[in-house]
Parts: sequence; structure tokens; C-alpha cells
Amino acid sequence: MDLRVGRKYRLGRKIGAGSFGDIYHGTNLLSGEEIAIKVESVRTKHPQLEYESRVYRYISGGIGIPIIRWFGREGEFNAMILDLLGPSLEDLFNYCRRSFSFKTIIMLALQMLSRIQYVHGRSFIHRDIKPDNFLMGTTHHQNNIVHIIDFGLSKKYRDFHSHKHIPYRENKSLTGTARYASISTHMGIEQSRRDDLESLGYILIYFAKGSLPWQGLRATTKKQKYHLILEKKLTTSIERLCSGLPVQFAQYIEYCRTLKFEQRPDYSYLSGLFKGLATSLDYHIDHLFDWTFLRYTRIMLQKQSEMLTGPGLPEETRNKYRIETQYRSPNSSIPSSLCSGSQEKKKEEKTINRNYYGNNYESTGNKTAILSFENIKRLTMKKFSSNFHYYILGETHNPSPNEIKSQTTFNSNLECRIPNEITQYMDMELERAR
Ligand code: ADP
Repeated sequence: MDLRVGRKYRLGRKIGAGSFGDIYHGTNLLSGEEIAIKVESVRTKHPQLEYESRVYRYISGGIGIPIIRWFGREGEFNAMILDLLGPSLEDLFNYCRRSFSFKTIIMLALQMLSRIQYVHGRSFIHRDIKPDNFLMGTTHHQNNIVHIIDFGLSKKYRDFHSHKHIPYRENKSLTGTARYASISTHMGIEQSRRDDLESLGYILIYFAKGSLPWQGLRATTKKQKYHLILEKKLTTSIERLCSGLPVQFAQYIEYCRTLKFEQRPDYSYLSGLFKGLATSLDYHIDHLFDWTFLRYTRIMLQKQSEMLTGPGLPEETRNKYRIETQYRSPNSSIPSSLCSGSQEKKKEEKTINRNYYGNNYESTGNKTAILSFENIKRLTMKKFSSNFHYYILGETHNPSPNEIKSQTTFNSNLECRIPNEITQYMDMELERAR
């Protein structure tokens, strides 16, 4: 039997689990439109769905803010119906083997900054800025737009009309996610606009480097763990935190950390940093993200593997090359299994990814390893006439635009190392995939 919510919505499969409730896929039975349903037990100790639905209603209308359709009680549950969105930035980060190019990070940063600025402009602070709370649109709808979700922890920081700011307070317990929390949030200071922005800064560094220095610290209690995280945040200089990244990352963090409690952040200064970086690296804000290329990369990788093992390629060529990395999933959509991979798998993927830079091309006997995931990824990027550059592991200074751009030369040299038979085959397959 169909489970109905709010009379006209059919409850489908579970698509997400939050800290306070679950998210289900749903269908509007009248229009056939797909929607998302967030539910919470009416018996929960700290109900927050009604509050969240009111915040969504109040801030609705902005770009990248999902529209709420209905909120109400259904049996033992409170339910909220809202736009169905696509994968989160954390899902996509895993899909991209936990490393985004500077171009993708810049494009995301600009959109995420706009979302935060919009929410602040509506007198709310989010207080749980993390990659899981930014979702792309769906494949069919606004798939290049970053959406901000989860307002369960959000707070009104000023009066709607007079704009009088909430007072400074201390001894607050940590609200949000420790990994991305600002230093003053750790120290128990009431959050304000500056803290959402500092969290965004940590996300951008995480996207570039794959992790943050305060990840994986071991402690027996939550309190101890938070303490260790704060200690690490305090003792890691901005210079070290942002080493290997263009100087704008450090400038961003520096600016956020000097903001006063009530101060209105200069959002255009912050977006200007990333716009300037995009210009100096000759990037166009064209919404071609890493994951777009990766879909093709996966198709390519699969094709190559079929080709090298199948009968199509001359024996001689096949013997000359070996596949360096077998990537398991050639799926063109984002498989959920990839999004929630085991720690081991993630670790292994990261190692593969990082090895690339140190070794360029590994040689095993007389077989040259040329068909790695990373190599094919770069080749597909090149086919799309776009330049993508990455953080290089172990780099200690802030690379200049020219140094970053020199990675392009390396990428361009890839083709000549790959045998003609393979590149021709790739071209053909790429055309077909397009
Ligand atoms: P909580 O507040 O309980 O943490 P969230 O609102 O963050 O819950 O949702 C949990 C997860 O459910 C998200 O990370 C996301 O993967 C998924 N999700 C949430 N809202 C939507 C939506 N509108 N469309 C698609 N997936 C969603």
C-alpha cells in the first residue's frame, strides 16, 4: 500500500539520514513531480522540523534555496515536503576521489558565498556550514546550482526590522560540526556571521587538500576530542594550513578570523579574492565541474580496459602497456555506494590520487603505466578544452598563478605518451558519450 504524506505526496525510498530525522524520496501524486520528504518523530526530545520549516518559509525565494511545499503532522511523524535536490558536495568530493581542482573550488566558493550572504541578508546564520549541507540541483533541474540545506541549527542573529544584533555571549556549547567549526565557536562564543564564513574557508581547504590537519585525532570522550581539535586549530598557523594553495586561501581565513562579533563581513572582498584567482588562472566560470569530466573519465577508463583486454587492439600495443589503476565503477551516474565508501576504500583512493604527482609515470619492467585514472581524467579535461589544476602534495609555499599554470603543460604532454590507437579510440568514444 502506498504511504501518503500531506494527502498528495507518496512516500518513496529513503535517500538520506540526518542527525534529527530521515529524508525520503517522494512523488506529488497530482503532478507526478518528484520531491523530498524530511521526517521527524513527534516523540523526539528536541523537535526542530517545524522550526526548520518556518526558517525555509521565511528565507524562500533566493537562488539555491529549496522551496518548501508543505509541513504538517502525519501519524506519528512531522513531515516537511521540499524540492528534491541532487548529490551533496561531500558525495561529489568522494566521487572525485577526495580532491577537487582549483577551478571547481573557485566555482563552488563563489556560489557558496552567495548562498551564505543571502541567508545572512535574511537575518539568519546557518551554524552548520559543511559539505554535506550543500547540494547540487538534480540532473534535470538546476544541476549547476549549489543549494544550501538544513536550517535546523540556524539562528536569527538580528532583529528583522531594526537589525539590532544579538548580544555577545560566552560559555555556549558547540553547535554544528567540530571539523568545520570556527575557533571562537570552539571557545564557546556565540556564533555570528563571521563563523559561517570561517567554516566555509575550512571547507575550501579541505576540498583542495583532501583533509584538514585536525581530522582523525583520537580521544575517548567527545569533550576531549573537541578540545584536541581546538588545540590543533590554534597551533596550526594559517601559513601551514594553506601551504601549497594559492595565497587567496590564506587571505580568506585571515580576513574571517579578524572579523568582530557584530561586524558585517565584506562579502565582495571575499568573492573578489576568488574571482581574481580565476582571472589570473584564465578560468571561465562555465560550470564545468570536476565531476562532469569524471563521468567521461569513467566511461573512458572502462573502454580502455575493454580495449586492452579485448580483441580490438593489436597484440603488440596491448603488451606494451598496462593499466595502472583499475577503477571499479564505470557508472555514469553517481552511485550511492561511492558516496558512503568505507574508510579503507577512501584511504586507498587518496593514496592512488596522491601518488600521481610524485611519480608522474611509473615504470614496471618495460611496461609503461600510462592509463591511470588520473591520466585519463586529465586527457578528458583537455578534450573539453578546459584547464584544471590541483594542489600538489608536499608543496610548502603558496604557488603563483604561473607555477599553477605550468601544470597545464604537463597535462598537455600526456597525449604524446599515449599510443595513437588508444587516443583515437578515446576520441571516438568521447564523441559518442557526448
Ligand atoms: P539533518 O538536519 O537531520 O542533518 P539534513 O536536512 O541535513 O538532515 O538531510 C540529511 C541528508 O539528506 C543530506 O545530507 C542529503 O544527503 C539528504 N537531503 C536532504 N535534503 C534533501 C533534498 N531536498 N533533496 C535530496 N536530498 C536531500
